Amino acid sequence: MPIKLPSFRQRREAYPPDLWTKCPSCEEMLFNRQLDKVRRVCPSCGHHFRLSAAGRLDLLLDAGSFEEHDEGLQSLDPLEFVDQKPYPERIAAAQAATGLRDAAVWGFGRIDGRVVAICVMDFAFMGGSMGSVVGEKVTRAAEAALEARVPLIIVSASGGARMQEGTLALMQLAKTVGALERLRAEAVPFISILTDPTTGGVFASYAALGDVNLAEPNALIGFAGARVTASTIAAELPPGFQRSEFLSEHGFLDRVVHRFELRGEVSALLRYLVPATFEEPAADTLSVPAFRPLSFLSALADRVMPDLEPEEPRPNGPLPVVAPVASTPATTSGQAATAPATPTGQAAAAPATSLAAAGNGPSPRAGEPAAPGQEAIAVEAGPASARAHDEEPRDG
Ligand SMILES: [Zn+2]
Repeated sequence: MPIKLPSFRQRREAYPPDLWTKCPSCEEMLFNRQLDKVRRVCPSCGHHFRLSAAGRLDLLLDAGSFEEHDEGLQSLDPLEFVDQKPYPERIAAAQAATGLRDAAVWGFGRIDGRVVAICVMDFAFMGGSMGSVVGEKVTRAAEAALEARVPLIIVSASGGARMQEGTLALMQLAKTVGALERLRAEAVPFISILTDPTTGGVFASYAALGDVNLAEPNALIGFAGARVTASTIAAELPPGFQRSEFLSEHGFLDRVVHRFELRGEVSALLRYLVPATFEEPAADTLSVPAFRPLSFLSALADRVMPDLEPEEPRPNGPLPVVAPVASTPATTSGQAATAPATPTGQAAAAPATSLAAAGNGPSPRAGEPAAPGQEAIAVEAGPASARAHDEEPRDG
């Protein structure tokens, strides 16, 4: 007969929150120290918990490579703002709770040996809200990236602009976007990583402007809240609204990346996104309004295979220049196709004719066979490639 031992341990009804965390997705109780070891990703369902600024830097950067800049920046209270308590008291409480001066940290670090300027946000500091300090750090990170010609990485985790700083917080939208625009103009890459949550003014400014926008799974990303949006448009919102996967399906994000793969993904991107240097001031990128995979790939091909020149030099430059010339009334393909000078009367003859007219080459003799193949293909590709350049492929 088994002996029944008395239970010495009282049954725990409530788990102390400093030791345990309940997964909001699968409701499993997770031991905090264990959760930290697995980068705060639920081992049973893969739910991504929020990560602190320090945890994020540790995740992305080579160990020990981070050098923080402007760590002393701190919010003032020029508006003397008081809600339930004065703004300086809120700041002090958040500083005590997180050990941070404000909701963003920036500096230089390395990813697989490549130097980057990186700015990470911490949601635990007043909801990651963007006041003048966060805006200033993002801006300085962008300016330093430009000066050093290294890629910029910003990891967002924010509820939006900081209400306690009023219009000063709103001004950060313009300031940060201005700094990023200078990066773009000088062809220095910017990778934006959106984590849970990225909403409000942060989403409406720098977070959505990356050359590549990555997001963690199931992150809340959007401008206004779901309830506000639903009541504004007076319609029921689709399932998964404002979540990473939904935004990715609709072309707003380039990729949704699991936290464990994030570092590898960023590292791979950095191999392709090389900043333009001072020596070659990106003649091909200055005329391009934004980073686009097509122009990027053709520029890359030019560097890798510079010998692949077209057989016949085209004095009028690249194909997109030819296309408009070919469409002038005298040489429109429709007219050329019906022109009596083209003996075959086939439409295939038209591109060859218009190419010759566009270039300075000799006009084709009337009896010449139509379309020596390559030229016709080149011109036919002309309008198509011009069209491709006008598009903004965002759904990579
Ligand atoms: Zn879970």
